[in-house]
Amino acid sequence: MTGKNNPMWLNGAKKKPYPKQFSNWLKNRIKQRDEYICYLCNIEHKIALKENLSVHHIDYDKNNCNEKNLITLCKSHNAKVNTNRKYWKQYFENIIDAYLYSFKYTESF
Ligand SMILES: [Zn+2]
Repeated sequence: MTGKNNPMWLNGAKKKPYPKQFSNWLKNRIKQRDEYICYLCNIEHKIALKENLSVHHIDYDKNNCNEKNLITLCKSHNAKVNTNRKYWKQYFENIIDAYLYSFKYTESF
């Protein structure tokens, strides 16, 4: 195997890998919770653009996989929130509080 298909490739990657608990299962769960809607553009990506959705870590800590720290964004917005981090963290914390409150969120890890 060569290049990206080589398991050793990870060692050369610039980004830190995501922790195990940030699994596809968890990502799908968050997307489902958020009804496949990007919180910033409010567009439902369920049908055509399902693949275009990312799950964002609100506090930018990849190891914090609490569901309160995760929010669904489209790929372009996920890239956008990597600047102005302080602003966006506050912004999403407010959203998720309001959202989880109205949702009567009871499950937790
Ligand atoms: Zn978006």
